[in-house]
Amino acid sequence: NAVTVEGTRVHAGTAVPDVKVARAAADASIAGLSFFRGVPGAIGGALRMNAGAYGGETKDVLVYATGVARDGDLVTYTNEEMGFSYRHSGVPDDVIFTSALFEGKAGDRAVIAAEMDKITESREATQPIKSRTGGSTFKNPPGHKAWQLIDAAGCRGLVVGGAQVSELHCNFLLNLGAATAKDIETLGETVREKVQATSGVVLEWEIKRIGIQ
Ligand SMILES: Cc1cc2nc3c(=O)[nH]c(=O)nc-3n(C[C@H](O)[C@H](O)[C@H](O)COP(=O)(O)OP(=O)(O)OC[C@H]3O[C@@H](n4cnc5c(N)ncnc54)[C@H](O)[C@@H]3O)c2cc1C
Repeated sequence: NAVTVEGTRVHAGTAVPDVKVARAAADASIAGLSFFRGVPGAIGGALRMNAGAYGGETKDVLVYATGVARDGDLVTYTNEEMGFSYRHSGVPDDVIFTSALFEGKAGDRAVIAAEMDKITESREATQPIKSRTGGSTFKNPPGHKAWQLIDAAGCRGLVVGGAQVSELHCNFLLNLGAATAKDIETLGETVREKVQATSGVVLEWEIKRIGIQ
């Protein structure tokens, strides 16, 4: 759970919250990692999901990640070997990442701090981050924004049981207080059907569902 900085490189254990990596980089005047300010979660999840926001993503700054394979072997994956694509890493599912080395660029501390403040403000204004939500529900299909397709399909505010499509950002599903997993999933599948019917685009879940074949 440690973060260390050397030159323009930041080394972090995978239990370190993304925001802590963003702050460590900013404090050391390292540019390029401020997008981590906007991603909830820790570095392990960021590696697995190729987390990104506001024009930056994990694959832009990762040098290598270390981990433990199922058989107990210690493994290292270079950026290229991570098999990154949009919100995805190709590393086998049973590898547990333990640390990551990131590289940014020398920057201006005040500029980086201002960028991070802007990300925070923008998040609060456009996303229901204080509600019970899993974040972006569907991946943006190539050439489209998921929220626009969902909005155009008339799903903004749609309710199933205790689950609702956020009025503020319609790629976010909310638990209004007593939603079951079934409510959330039924709502998501209803949205997918409506979007396909109106636009022909099939939305792909970004949220990882457990127990789905
Ligand atoms: C309000 C909100 C906003 C969000 N906005 C964004 C956004 O802008 N951009 C974005 O990319 N994501 C966003 N997310 C999704 C989420 O924050 C990211 O996917 C994040 O990287 C997940 O990290 P986590 O630590 O919570 O991982 P988890 O959700 O716990 O896990 C995610 C996946 O990573 C795997 N994993 C976790 N740790 C490890 C490890 N050490 N080794 C191997 N595999 C591991 C898990 O098994 C799982 O498959 C948002 C979520 C919320 C709730």
